Amino acid sequence: MSDVRNVIIIGSGPAGYTAALYTARASLKPLVFEGAVTAGGALMNTTEVENFPGFRDGIMGPELMDNMRAQAERFGAELIPDDVVSVDLAGEIKTVTDTAGTVHKAKAVIVTTGSQHRKLGLPNEDALSGRGVSWCATCDGFFFKDHDIAVIGGGDTAMEEATFLSRFAKSVTIVHRRDSLRASKAMQERAFNDPKIKFVWDSEVAEIQGDQKLSGLKLRNVKTGELSELPVTGLFIAIGHDPRTELFKGQLDLDDEGYLKVASPSTQTNLTGVFGAGDVVDHTYRQAITAAGTGCSAALDAERFLAALA
Ligand code: FAD
Repeated sequence: MSDVRNVIIIGSGPAGYTAALYTARASLKPLVFEGAVTAGGALMNTTEVENFPGFRDGIMGPELMDNMRAQAERFGAELIPDDVVSVDLAGEIKTVTDTAGTVHKAKAVIVTTGSQHRKLGLPNEDALSGRGVSWCATCDGFFFKDHDIAVIGGGDTAMEEATFLSRFAKSVTIVHRRDSLRASKAMQERAFNDPKIKFVWDSEVAEIQGDQKLSGLKLRNVKTGELSELPVTGLFIAIGHDPRTELFKGQLDLDDEGYLKVASPSTQTNLTGVFGAGDVVDHTYRQAITAAGTGCSAALDAERFLAALA
């Protein structure tokens, strides 16, 4: 059993690093798979984070993640910048295989693989992320006081983002590719009754314009093909998220949208010794602080599970 770890953590965002910090401080010597290209998680792709408590003047996303990483490492977490490509989580000893085919064993596994926001797939989208283009009104709305903003999407999230943003913005234009909304009636009513919100129907974004900063959008009417200009300095893309759970299909219970199911308020999945935390579980809050909070819960759950085995 000497090659069997106490705990392996898959994923390295705020949830994974917090779980690593707590399990490392509990002397469990966690092994963390950080991911091959996106070690540090979603905040590596943003600029300033102003709502993570403890940083009075805000902190850049990558710096916050470097701090979390270093803090976990300081207490003995072992970090590997690689992807996990397969898992076998059912037995007492769980196995996790990396890209080189090496099999790692552990008594407990914490899944913190996050979720991926859906993109429009347009040139400039990534380059202008944090420079006018955003996927999170709660995170970035404050930076858009008195701006003209476009919100893309027709579901509940798009309506919620738009009504939230109208508090700050000069105007909010919801661009939707159909002529009716998918959002619930209540959410629709709120958006329709908001004097700052207007709608552009049957339209999609053809081009995201701007050099260092977003300067506008070119829209295409999907029925007529007609092109038009929308001069905005904020673009919020609200067309959904995909939780990263492909790896766990057939082993861990997932909900209808593919998110990991846990026995809330605990982080226990359907398999003994396997815990889930952060945005891979959460389709409601999706914040760094909530991901870190549930990462802490998963570490404490794993710690108690391991203590009961001893
Ligand atoms: P993530 O941060 O997504 O991390 C998941 C990690 O798992 C990634 O590193 C990934 O590489 C890894 N992974 C996935 N699959 C595998 C695998 N098979 N093997 C190994 N590793 C794997 N929140 C705020 O509170 N404030 C903000 O200002 C803010 N700004 C944001 C700006 C942007 C542009 C975005 C996209 C999000 C922002 N958020 C913000 C939201 C916040 O980033 C997320 O809620 C948070 O990062 C979720 O943390 P997580 O640990 O659950 O997942």
